[in-house]
Amino acid sequence: MKALSEKVSGIAPSSTLEIADLARRMEREGIDVISLSIGEPDFDTPVHIKEACINALRRGETHYTQSAGIPELIDAVVEKYRVENHLDCRAEEVIVTCGAKHAIYQAIQSVLNPGDEVILIDPAWVSYEPCVQMAGGRVRHYAMNARTFQLDDKLGEKITSRTKMIVINTPSNPAGTVLNRDSLRLVADLCQDYDIFALSDEIYEKLIYDRMHISLATLGDMRERTITVNGFSKAYAMTGWRLGYAIAPIEIIRQMLKIQQHEVSHPTTFAMWGGVAALKGDKRCVEEMRREFDRRRMFIANELPTMGFTIAPMEGAFYAFIRIPGDDIEIARSWLEGAHVAVTPGSAFYASGWIRLSYATSLPKLQEALRRIRALDLS
Ligand code: PMP
Ligand code: GLU
Repeated sequence: MKALSEKVSGIAPSSTLEIADLARRMEREGIDVISLSIGEPDFDTPVHIKEACINALRRGETHYTQSAGIPELIDAVVEKYRVENHLDCRAEEVIVTCGAKHAIYQAIQSVLNPGDEVILIDPAWVSYEPCVQMAGGRVRHYAMNARTFQLDDKLGEKITSRTKMIVINTPSNPAGTVLNRDSLRLVADLCQDYDIFALSDEIYEKLIYDRMHISLATLGDMRERTITVNGFSKAYAMTGWRLGYAIAPIEIIRQMLKIQQHEVSHPTTFAMWGGVAALKGDKRCVEEMRREFDRRRMFIANELPTMGFTIAPMEGAFYAFIRIPGDDIEIARSWLEGAHVAVTPGSAFYASGWIRLSYATSLPKLQEALRRIRALDLS
């Protein structure tokens, strides 16, 4: 066989998905694994959203449709940004994608040229760097202040003449922290001063506790240089639907649309009708799920310190980021093998010495998981 693509060979598999697959495999083998590894709500998709999709199927919405997404969903996204984020955009500045992940991939492909640099803020989610690599770009890592989990002036030191983009993710996966206005202001100032694009991944926007979500694009002229990404997976428990969206300046959306047309044509037609129901329908389901996550968050935030662990401020998303005395990969392995509790090592997010625990699972399971870890540590 001839040599395969070096670009793809050089990319690491997704560790979040790999660990989740491993936990699923162990479950199939009859092992009682508690998976706190993947960031996936354990709730079913709300009924009115499923009904809208089923009705669309019944109506025969089973054909190709507009490549940027059905107009009804595009309009709902425009309205969502106007009302919830105080961001004005036109329909042409919206694209509906196969998950937020695909919007991120398209955005990075659309902006970068080979050799361009992207600044990632560590701890950073696993898929940003591979997306940059697939676009022929290079990543420069900036480590957040590990005490405050906010940004400082050292971020500016990462800028070079090749810097094209800064990626932010707030609330953060994996840290579960929220960037404050000062941190966002710093990003905005750098982007404006050095003429840099920003990718703002706001997928955990709705899962926030005692903090306020601020969209980066609302600051200064950031709307003109930001791709704001969001999706349905987390807020509406719709991970399997593969539905997300982005807003950006029209030039960038046009680029993203070309990729979408050649790659997937458009997201699944009937799934998009579920998206319309999610954005336009009753939002109580979102708040109910957030409250339940909050209950679990309080439990974890109370328990982990009694086990001797230090944790990052638990302000958003559904992750506890735990400081670990020792090798995080080794400890994650020992928890999986010895306690049958799956978590993700911080190294997957460029943060060795930390472990990410997803609390998107029921309280009894969380209680049992911590009981097992305690027992392991004592033995
Ligand atoms: N960004 C972050 C930070 C995430 O945690 C996820 C979770 N998968 C995504 C993007 C992608 O979400 P989606 O399921 O919409 O592709
Ligand atoms: N984003 C989730 C996580 O970090 C889902 C897995 C993935 O897409 O990476 O666990």
